[in-house]
Amino acid sequence: MIQTEEMEFAPRVISPENSPEDSDVEVTLRPQTLSEYIGQDKVKENLAVYIEAAKRRCEPLDHVLLYGPPGLGKTTLSGIIAHELGVNFRVTTGPAIEKPGDLVSLLTSLSDNDVLFIDEIHRLSRAVEEILYPALEDRVIDIIIGKGPSARSIRMDLKPFTLIGATTRAGQLSAPLRDRFGVIHRLELYSKEQLTDIVRRSAMILNIPCTTDGAAEIAGRARGTPRIANRLLKRVRDFADIMGNGEITQDIASIALSRLEIDELGLDSLDRRMLEMIIKGYNGGPVGLETLASAIGEESVTLEDVCEPFLMQLGFLGRTPRGRIATKLAYAHLGIKFEGSEKSAPDGQLPLI
Ligand code: ADP
Repeated sequence: MIQTEEMEFAPRVISPENSPEDSDVEVTLRPQTLSEYIGQDKVKENLAVYIEAAKRRCEPLDHVLLYGPPGLGKTTLSGIIAHELGVNFRVTTGPAIEKPGDLVSLLTSLSDNDVLFIDEIHRLSRAVEEILYPALEDRVIDIIIGKGPSARSIRMDLKPFTLIGATTRAGQLSAPLRDRFGVIHRLELYSKEQLTDIVRRSAMILNIPCTTDGAAEIAGRARGTPRIANRLLKRVRDFADIMGNGEITQDIASIALSRLEIDELGLDSLDRRMLEMIIKGYNGGPVGLETLASAIGEESVTLEDVCEPFLMQLGFLGRTPRGRIATKLAYAHLGIKFEGSEKSAPDGQLPLI
């Protein structure tokens, strides 16, 4: 396949970020109830108890913080919580709430026990956060009226509500904000079996004939992320239509995914470039994230939020106080001979820091 400059910088097929291409089917594919939501069993079990208890007491659910890499189902789960509670689901994002007044009008427009969902909650401005503290704790907001010496603060009561915050970076949340969430859950990357179920469910909804082996092949390369699994399913369908009779089999899936340069473990060219740079450019590491990002011409947030969780889960990458290191497993996967010392490239059993 001819690799052009343009293709090199085209959006990654396996980026877990939402793209316009996804939005047409994402709504159709979103599970509506906890029982339809596949995986994340511990989180689901706990939430089911809290939801039932809140419903019995006719009270709002405690504020919930969901964190984990993009595409794992934070928005979906939040919508399910609202659906199971039988209340309205209001959706916004941290950067969309520019001024304190934006948040005030959102909060005052909620009905009893509604769910307000704020995605990327770590990106709220400090001034907006200050409004949120008393709203979360005492269900009140303080509004300043007037300017200068004659300015007065008026306290307004809010209706009971639940805030669900989602973030890929729980560490960036300020401590006072984090402390105001009664329920905090981390979503984990999905197993191949769970993703196979997700692909089969999506194929059924979208009327795509797909064998179990075909679904498993896609699942195995979706780097633990439902959004990527659904996107790969759509791409592989195109190959199945053109190369076969429209049915996704293991063979068709395997050929299609190789053409998309996604290897058998789900690594794409960016993952491989990152590992190769650590190994060939920095002798296996340690190398600082910023240095690494500029060496391969990529944003450090992309490496940190997208590549790292997956490469660490595979045991290919380690984070040490002095920077990132490639493990022996990474050398083996890339077919590069390991020549360093044991210390410079551990075997994949690294403490996560
Ligand atoms: P996030 O908010 O974490 O970025 P989303 O909730 O937008 O992720 O999920 C992306 C897509 O993945 C959704 O459209 C949904 O179809 C699918 N999805 C996510 N989690 C699950 C799940 N547990 N079961 C089935 N589909 C899921």
